[in-house]
Amino acid sequence: MMNAPEHITVHAASGRLSLTWTDGHTQWIDNATLRERCPCSTCRRLAHVGNATQIESRVTIVDVQPMGYGVQIVFSDGHAQGIYPWDYLAGIA
Ligand SMILES: [Zn+2]
Repeated sequence: MMNAPEHITVHAASGRLSLTWTDGHTQWIDNATLRERCPCSTCRRLAHVGNATQIESRVTIVDVQPMGYGVQIVFSDGHAQGIYPWDYLAGIA
């Protein structure tokens, strides 16, 4: 289990999220990539049958709620079911 990042920042202008991990490494992830990789059971099921949700490329992050082992991300398309564990986020290229 990974430690929580020291900082999580929503960069509205560039449409990305940055995570600064405890080793000092900063990771950047596009909003659309995060939305596409939503780990909730609905999105995983759709992806599994090759019918992944159509993601708006301009989707933005409305809110980020720390949940202990990860974060819940609220997107501008209204989707907020995904809770992204730290090790899952770290594994998103
Ligand atoms: Zn989802």
